[in-house]
Amino acid sequence: LPTLIIVGRPNVGKSALFNRLIRRREALVYNTPDDHVTRDIRQGLAKLGDLRFTVLDSAGLETEATSGSILHRTATLTANVLSKTQFALFLIDVRAGVHPLDLEVGKWLRKHAPGIKPIVAMNKCESLCDGSDAIAEAISEARTLGFGDPIAISAETGLGMTVLYETLRPLLEDYMLQFLNNNRNLHDSCGLNHLDNPTEVDESKLPLQLAIVGRPNVGKSTLLNTLLQEERVLVGPEVGLTRDSIRVEFQYEGRTIFLVDTAGWMQRIGKEKGPSSLSIVQSRKNLMRAHVVALVLDAEEIAKTRRSMTHAEVVIARQTLEEGRGLVIVVNKMDLLYGKQNSTSVKKVMEAVPLEIQTVIPQVTGIPILFISALECRGRIAVMHQVADTYKKWCLRLPTARLNRWLRKVMSRHSWKDQAAQPKIKYFTQVKARPPTFVAFTGGKTQLPDTDIRFLTKSLKEDFDLGGIPIRIMQRSVS
Ligand code: GDP
Repeated sequence: LPTLIIVGRPNVGKSALFNRLIRRREALVYNTPDDHVTRDIRQGLAKLGDLRFTVLDSAGLETEATSGSILHRTATLTANVLSKTQFALFLIDVRAGVHPLDLEVGKWLRKHAPGIKPIVAMNKCESLCDGSDAIAEAISEARTLGFGDPIAISAETGLGMTVLYETLRPLLEDYMLQFLNNNRNLHDSCGLNHLDNPTEVDESKLPLQLAIVGRPNVGKSTLLNTLLQEERVLVGPEVGLTRDSIRVEFQYEGRTIFLVDTAGWMQRIGKEKGPSSLSIVQSRKNLMRAHVVALVLDAEEIAKTRRSMTHAEVVIARQTLEEGRGLVIVVNKMDLLYGKQNSTSVKKVMEAVPLEIQTVIPQVTGIPILFISALECRGRIAVMHQVADTYKKWCLRLPTARLNRWLRKVMSRHSWKDQAAQPKIKYFTQVKARPPTFVAFTGGKTQLPDTDIRFLTKSLKEDFDLGGIPIRIMQRSVS
């Protein structure tokens, strides 16, 4: 696993962040400058969304702090710790701004870890008043440390953990790819499985974070009540009635399901005017918290307007997939079309929606679409079943040996017009789940054309039944 060390002067909140990342309160965190309770470097398995890495709390290096300078315990210890570390999080206290000791930490990092570019995190940002001026000032001050743009977090409240996730994800993914590249010699035809960890927990059994989203009045709250089978969420005809963010937890077939910031999100979608509006930017952040997104559409409106999705709905669907979340489309209020005079509408809507979705979101095929009536409790089980199924597929992990057997079959069953056009893939492996992410290793410097990547994506979807799951395929060349 990649390793990240948390560094910073005393009392900036290193241990608090460490505890948050390992999700266990195993170390004491004191808030008085004279208490340096953490003497040794602690190590833990960090979990941040679907990211897993080793985290080190460098607070133990501070034991000499009282002697006037910091972080110079022994050169051996420093060298030892840093030789095992690929990433560093440089914590500062936003309330104090850049402190002289922060500059010393920066110098120490440059000297002992010249190969690591730390991520500067301004901690305790919950204490900043909302004014954007204060944040802008803090950011420009933190930039003077010379490590680029800082991120704003609060280890105590969890603020900014999404931003930390977004910052770390590409770095960790790149590191893993590099690791795979460097260890490619271990990949022989009979030993590919060494990368698949059979002891890993079955992630599909972990709690599922579900977001029910859509424009105001499409029936999200009604659907929510139907799913919960009790009147927990306020429902009414006024646009935007559901104002406050709600956190709901329930059980479905033995699995815990959390509903993610549903109300806050739908408000913003309702107000959204265009793709560049702030609401959409904000909604993207919320998307990061959901595993599966159920996008609710209004059947009656579709029948009236003959358009399945508004611009806002298309944007949300695309963002969901771009962010790597599972997507389920729920067409609600079908009861309004079931009357005799409307029977042709039912057929039209049921035909038009899949066609239009395929046209406006061509990059992901087989997105599940359910036609329901939340008011009449029709389709409740289908929705829950589909959400659980989408989540399971989103967590899918395919063993490397199986994938390579599959690859050989796919290549042989496809008839290539020109044999030279056949993708030159040496082997194929899954580097992560949630969403399933694969790497195709090609020979020499050959770059696979987009058509090959599309072919692989389509074949994976068909053969492993992954409709509605945003599969990612990266490529690396093996020289
Ligand atoms: P939200 O803003 O998306 O949460 O929408 P609500 O759940 O508050 O519903 C808005 C209105 O649509 C309410 O008057 C609901 O009773 C009505 N509604 C919701 N679902 C259905 C449905 O399946 N059929 C019909 N006929 N009306 C529905």
